[in-house]
Amino acid sequence: MERDQEHIIRKKIAGLLHEVADPEIPIISIVDLGMVIDIRPENSHWRVDLAPTYSGCPAIDVIPILVKTHLAEAGLDDIQIEMEISPPWSTDWISDLGNQKLLNYGIAPPNGRAADQEYEGKPRSCPQCGSVETELISNYGATPCKASYKCLSCLEPFEYFKCF
Ligand SMILES: [Zn+2]
Repeated sequence: MERDQEHIIRKKIAGLLHEVADPEIPIISIVDLGMVIDIRPENSHWRVDLAPTYSGCPAIDVIPILVKTHLAEAGLDDIQIEMEISPPWSTDWISDLGNQKLLNYGIAPPNGRAADQEYEGKPRSCPQCGSVETELISNYGATPCKASYKCLSCLEPFEYFKCF
């Protein structure tokens, strides 16, 4: 395949992947989450490698289907989607933009790097008012990857995306 043509197709696929939202947090794309590992031509087709966020996440089975459907709708119907489990995905892979989007959505983003700590951390501050006075309500929120917190300043409950 011509290098120029290859570049154009890769860019097109990357752009389309930016439009695939996480089913649980619709404001964040799978690219923001750091799930897209590789996009490359392989034999006569293109292959996209994705990292599943974590094995307990119910969205995991749905994401490859969403990706395949979205690419097919754009005319790219011969794409192989592979889930790569090694090395395991980490919240460290969420982009700065992704963390900002989480915050804007009212979810406290992972605080610190999972690689640097033994524990799941705690939110830096309340996503609503910015207060650092927060209290853990439950280690498991709406999904196991999040914890429920309450702000002691504005009293709003919020979710914290744990580091792992
Ligand atoms: Zn607050």
